[in-house]
Amino acid sequence: MQATLTFHGAAGEVTGSCHLLEAGGRRVLLDCGLIQGGHRDEARNRDPFPFDAAAIDAVVLSHAHIDHSGRLPLLVRDGFAGPIHAHSATTDLCRIMLRDSAYLQEKDAQWENRKRERKGLKPVTPLYTAHDAEAAMGHFDPMEYGDVREVIPGVRVRLHDAGHILGSSLVEVTVGRGTKKRTLVFSGDLGRSGMPVLQDPEIIHKADRVVMEGTYGDRLHRGWEATKAELGEVLGEAVAREGNVLVPSFAVGRTQELLYLFARHFKEWGLDRWRIYLDSPMAIEATEVYGRHVGLFDPDARPLWVRLQNGALLPNLHLNRSAEESMALNDIRAGALIIAGSGMCSGGRIMHHLKHNVWRPECRVVITGFQARGTLGRALVDGAKRVRLWGETIRVKAKVHTIGGLSAHADQAGLTRWYAGFENRPPLTLVHGEEDALAALSAHLKRTLKAPVTVAARGGSIPL
Ligand SMILES: [Zn+2]
Repeated sequence: MQATLTFHGAAGEVTGSCHLLEAGGRRVLLDCGLIQGGHRDEARNRDPFPFDAAAIDAVVLSHAHIDHSGRLPLLVRDGFAGPIHAHSATTDLCRIMLRDSAYLQEKDAQWENRKRERKGLKPVTPLYTAHDAEAAMGHFDPMEYGDVREVIPGVRVRLHDAGHILGSSLVEVTVGRGTKKRTLVFSGDLGRSGMPVLQDPEIIHKADRVVMEGTYGDRLHRGWEATKAELGEVLGEAVAREGNVLVPSFAVGRTQELLYLFARHFKEWGLDRWRIYLDSPMAIEATEVYGRHVGLFDPDARPLWVRLQNGALLPNLHLNRSAEESMALNDIRAGALIIAGSGMCSGGRIMHHLKHNVWRPECRVVITGFQARGTLGRALVDGAKRVRLWGETIRVKAKVHTIGGLSAHADQAGLTRWYAGFENRPPLTLVHGEEDALAALSAHLKRTLKAPVTVAARGGSIPL
């Protein structure tokens, strides 16, 4: 059985993961993610798919992050009628995330239309609506790690734990049977070994082809112990400055990790001196989903999480669901530690908190995740002296700390170790990384493992 894989997204960039597998005249899509970043990048989400959505037979989704799942509502609206195979936890998280993504799209369009009306321009429609997101959820077909599904005739899929966020999966695709059998392993986003909360990424020993992400292909994360010390230090120093601390955070994954760490190091980090606000209805819901899947956690992390979930830890944690509760934070000058989205400061409640705090020298912004080019978060990391928020120019006087060691992505060493697990050194294609990161990773893998590695080009194909 002939099969090819074509890279339609996250090729030479970090977001918009989308790869098309064709075999025996049928089609399976691996991921269908939203492009995130600056306005020009995000405008590409409105471009038609480079394939006929109605001709796709099935989707396999590696994990719930929106840059992997966020265009599913569009795919369904454009005529996709098949199942979306995903881990049960991914399914639970997507219910929250796709709904939220639709809400943001609708709000963006509303905002834009108010401006357009004043200028006498025609209104725009949202990229997709809550109704579209709901329709996409109707296609999910949940599975567990280790389950095998025949997704199209002759093509079977099995999920393994990728250790990146809850439910994140390495996708093992087998085409054909017996001696003609060929196996492709797609890493999705690869997590890190030895991190709190989740289990380590599974090592797979054999494949005929590997497609691997390379977000941090040119970097080494700080060690875990050093990272914890750094975070504790930043929080300790922030207390002395008597300002607020803003933590832009991804609602899924990073937020739960932070809550876990805060609970675990509560006294040591002086967290009893703060009022901690989880100012994100989506993060609150995602935290509840984590609680329903404690069985997927690292065994060491389970008891503490159960106590955290029961309210026995973090007595000063406030869960802000309503907009009123969020707005009330605008008046607080000191002592508030606010966790809010979006993780790259490209929207959401964190924008309001930045507006009210980032011009104060006593404020601290703690960046704990990847910041894509073109986002406000990236500008802060890069040392911007001023930022634009709702048409207003605001000085940046706050101190911005980047805690790189909390990343949920494997670094160069982690990626190398995971690929080295394939004993037969199969041909490797790199996706999901900025150009420089993938070039550095590629050179490193060639030098250290003599890996037959190439970097995916957008629209390029490989045979399987
Ligand atoms: Zn991810």
